[in-house]
Amino acid sequence: MKQLDELEEMIELSKRRGFFWPSFSIYGGSAGFNDYAPLGSILKNRIYEEWKRAFTVIGGIEIDSPNITPERVLKASGHVDKFIDMAVACSKCKTRYKLENIISAPGSSRIPETLKEADEMVRKGHFKCEKCGNELTNPYEFHLMFQTQASDETFYLRPETAQGIFVNFKLLLNYNRGKMPMVVYQQGKGFRNEISPRQGIIRQKEFNMAEAEVFLPESGDDNFIPDSNEKLILHDMNGVDHNISISEAVKNHVVGSNNHGFFMQLIYNFVTRIGVDKKRLRFRQHRKDELAHYSKECWDLEVNLNGSWLEIVGIADRGTYDLSRHIRESGENLYYEGEKIARVIEPAAGMDRIIAALLVSNMKRRENTYSYMSFPPEISPYRVAVLPLQKKDGLLEKARELFEALREIEPYTVFDESGAIGRRYARQDEIGTPYCITVDYETLERDIVTIRERNTTKQIKNVRIESILNFPLFLKNPILKEFQN
Ligand code: AMP
Repeated sequence: MKQLDELEEMIELSKRRGFFWPSFSIYGGSAGFNDYAPLGSILKNRIYEEWKRAFTVIGGIEIDSPNITPERVLKASGHVDKFIDMAVACSKCKTRYKLENIISAPGSSRIPETLKEADEMVRKGHFKCEKCGNELTNPYEFHLMFQTQASDETFYLRPETAQGIFVNFKLLLNYNRGKMPMVVYQQGKGFRNEISPRQGIIRQKEFNMAEAEVFLPESGDDNFIPDSNEKLILHDMNGVDHNISISEAVKNHVVGSNNHGFFMQLIYNFVTRIGVDKKRLRFRQHRKDELAHYSKECWDLEVNLNGSWLEIVGIADRGTYDLSRHIRESGENLYYEGEKIARVIEPAAGMDRIIAALLVSNMKRRENTYSYMSFPPEISPYRVAVLPLQKKDGLLEKARELFEALREIEPYTVFDESGAIGRRYARQDEIGTPYCITVDYETLERDIVTIRERNTTKQIKNVRIESILNFPLFLKNPILKEFQN
């Protein structure tokens, strides 16, 4: 059997255990669309909660705007004219590739700006089709947005959530009582007509975004200041790796501003707190030729999967680009304090890629035995499982009673009575449930249970049921600290 690489393994595992699977499969599926299955849906909500928390604690406010956006808005933002990619197709099997992905292979050069340049580059490069090995030819342009029509008006499915925030700047600033800086965030779907959707949730046509627009005063750089000493890898636009803290990176002018650095740090903290492996991460600065049309400086947080780097979050300095455009095109007053235009730093996270990184980071295997998911307990879809040792002698009923009581405190509790106890532990390990509570004969006699922890498989015996149920937040129960010793 072919050895699966870590991405294939993650995709296979996700389908089998219920994190995500291809959409519309009974009709043959459609590339670039996936469903979050029951476990993945819980995981995604938990991660959104953590992401929201990260912005709420610094005073952020949330909005939720429509997916379908009138053409006028996206014309003003530049997307109608500039959100275009170049593609190449295989001369034989006609498989299509995004040009950027082909030429960003090692040893390649910058991204071409015109079709003529692209044509020359492709002819000289002799790029080969990954599927059949034949030559890739004839670069062409394609638009990344999905267009739709309603009552004779043209709309697009939004390619980013950001514009929904920019067009509301005036209302939001009023809501915020004119206070700047102002942090506004939004989660929701983004849609892009990806030329070669693949790798499960990594490259899709419809995906989950989590974006924040940080509106900053016209000048100054002391609104948000990074203060962590943790060293990270920052790969700059010249290809140089800096192993420094973000604060140092700002001081050394590797990162353009404190404000930018602060949000890089915030994103890094969020992604690592939810359980993405630090050793897989780096920041990479965009080269001038790959900056989006609205961006002045951009750092991507990248994750290493299968030995190559993948962008999971982009933190861009959008300057005054969007507000200026909307002021000009709508004629509205989107200024603050008279005639001032706010500058914007935008952390834009791809939730699906964060989830892929999280799944790969936490797929663990015990020696000679089955695998487990090592999610942090707060992130695990289910937090606790209740398992009767046997079904007889009243153990089943006792366990169910405990389960019902526990579920009132922690709704994401599992009850599993079928199969040998070892098999049931294995089942919970596989979906990442951090704690299993076993109900045995001692429970009947003395109201005590055994708690087993997933990563260490350590067990704490003689835990009084009362002490579990008296703590409204299961994960804060001091009993669980014992597992850390
Ligand atoms: P961007 O606005 O291009 O920087 O995209 C923001 C984030 O969305 C990226 O960092 C990715 O994590 C995610 N993303 C972009 N395109 C896709 C896609 N086709 N499928 C899944 N996630 C995507």
